[in-house]
Amino acid sequence: MIYLDYQATTPVAPEVADAMRPWIEEKFANPHSPSRWGREAAAAIEMARKEVSEAIGLTGGRLAFTGSATEALNWALKGTLEKTKGRNRIVTVATEHAAVLDTCEWLKGRGFDLTRLPVGADGLLNLENVKAELDDRVAIVAVMLVNNEIGVIQPIAEIAELAHEVGALMLCDAVQGLGRVEIPEGPDLAAVSAHKIHGPKGIGALWMRDGVEPAPLIHGGGQEMGLRSGTLSPALCVGFGVAAKLATERRQSDHEHVEELWIAAGSSLMTDWIINGSMTQRYHGNLNICWPGVDAARIIAELRDVAFSLGSACASGSGRPSHVLRAIGLSDRDARSSIRLGFGRYTSKEEVLDAVNRIDAAARTQRGLAA
Ligand code: PLP
Repeated sequence: MIYLDYQATTPVAPEVADAMRPWIEEKFANPHSPSRWGREAAAAIEMARKEVSEAIGLTGGRLAFTGSATEALNWALKGTLEKTKGRNRIVTVATEHAAVLDTCEWLKGRGFDLTRLPVGADGLLNLENVKAELDDRVAIVAVMLVNNEIGVIQPIAEIAELAHEVGALMLCDAVQGLGRVEIPEGPDLAAVSAHKIHGPKGIGALWMRDGVEPAPLIHGGGQEMGLRSGTLSPALCVGFGVAAKLATERRQSDHEHVEELWIAAGSSLMTDWIINGSMTQRYHGNLNICWPGVDAARIIAELRDVAFSLGSACASGSGRPSHVLRAIGLSDRDARSSIRLGFGRYTSKEEVLDAVNRIDAAARTQRGLAA
């Protein structure tokens, strides 16, 4: 199989699997128990916390592990609004992940006022529009760093500054940015996920600026500084830590590799494809392309040994065209003619070239053109 779905999830790094194994097999102690074995597990978790914090790179805050980035985003939004007095507005963006948009909708159903900012045809926010929407009733502004569908990079530092000018907090969904692009200083809260950086599934984290602590969402034994109860999995935490350390160490080489793949993919695509989203403010491990009139689902069905996606993995299979592609102005028909290719550390140039050539040939055949 040629795996080109890096935005959905990434292959687990061999170093991660090796580091996790002892914590699944012989080192099974509860990390919250005072025994020697428990303390050893707790120490491994603290090391992982340090490694994930370093990969995030933001200063003046601390990190709590969660079961996923979805949980971290739910916690950040619901927990912040629970504590905020006198402010009942949430501002977010039409192209956010469902973990943010659906949580905001849920909050709207409980009386909060929700603004979903539009983006331009390039998928980017206009800062003047953001500024115009902000006032002293806004409690939180939630904007993602790298878009999971079209790879565009929002100006997070500038948005955080605008949020702070009106006394609001800024939440950044940094899931697709971690290890790939720098997370700019500015957010008060940032959510990340291990499985997007070659770590295990089932673990995420919320970074919180000092003094900014959303009210707990999960109550119980008081783990994670009393903010997120539940026994932590040393195996998952260690796996996340090693993945984060690798992402930090390999940042430059991963970047250079992705650039090489991006150039290879671009050079072998025929001219009929249009790239969705900004060409300049973009992470190059995401190539979202559209050939109007082509049935992208049919290409996916035909190329059974190539893994790639129609839109976001979450929306795939729902039959709904991507909300992100619609937000950048694509018709439902063009959204259905769009394909997302995601590649990274373990993708070879040959794989990208082979897959792109076959996708291109399948599209040409559909259009009645010689492949
Ligand atoms: N935010 C973005 C941008 C994502 O791409 C994803 C995963 O698809 C999530 C949030 C949710 O992450 P998790 O799978 O850890 O819940």
